Amino acid sequence: MYAIPQKWYKEYGVRKYGAHGTSHQFVANEYARLTNKDISKLKIVTCHIGNGASLCAVEYGRCKDTSMGLTPLEGIPMGTRSGNIDPTVVSYICEKEGKSAKEVVNELNKKCGYLGVSGISNDSRDLNEAANNGNKDAMLALTIQEKRIADYIGSYYVYLEGIDAIVFTAGIGENASEMRERVCNRLKVLGVDIDLKLNADRGHPFRISTPNSKIDVWVIPTNEELVIARDTVKLLNI
Ligand code: AMP
Repeated sequence: MYAIPQKWYKEYGVRKYGAHGTSHQFVANEYARLTNKDISKLKIVTCHIGNGASLCAVEYGRCKDTSMGLTPLEGIPMGTRSGNIDPTVVSYICEKEGKSAKEVVNELNKKCGYLGVSGISNDSRDLNEAANNGNKDAMLALTIQEKRIADYIGSYYVYLEGIDAIVFTAGIGENASEMRERVCNRLKVLGVDIDLKLNADRGHPFRISTPNSKIDVWVIPTNEELVIARDTVKLLNI
């Protein structure tokens, strides 16, 4: 529940719903399966970083917290979404640009994140290329997102009272090794230690942490279609 009047919560259903549940569920269970561990004993932070992006604190196989909210706008910055901002920005931009709240919220969904900060693209490949060529706004867009990812992992570490594993997934999480490296560097204080050679891999599930790392860090390709198919079979009882 957000810290809002009970009426909004009870009558209007204003609360955190989250998103990407199929993906978080799949990679958390895959991590347990691949490492031969019991999911009911694990605390895992799953990082679904694609054009849409969210993190999930998975405690003993269940979601205890997640970064998206009433809508997918909440949480970390994404391809075109701002992620968390002070809600006052909405009324301020309405006044400045003579727009409705709906129009500004639409821009927070479609014109912000990578696209808004870099002014180049919502695609992480374009931003990486531009950043490698010295474009400061492209690097800034990446840095803001990486800082927020590390912030969420830090807060989930406190909330879950420690974490056993971090799993990266989705288009960026699975492929952007530079992003994983920079996020993990921000997590050194938690004892995260990654092997840059392992981190350069792609295309299948792999560990990127060293044996010294206090938290196991993996990259696991997601498979939302498989979870949907399995859930359908379960619902149909076949
Ligand atoms: P998704 O929403 O999970 O399909 O992820 C889309 C995002 O993944 C886009 O920003 C792509 O640029 C990014 N992506 C896909 N392949 C790569 C890659 N090889 N390196 C970096 N980012 C990638």
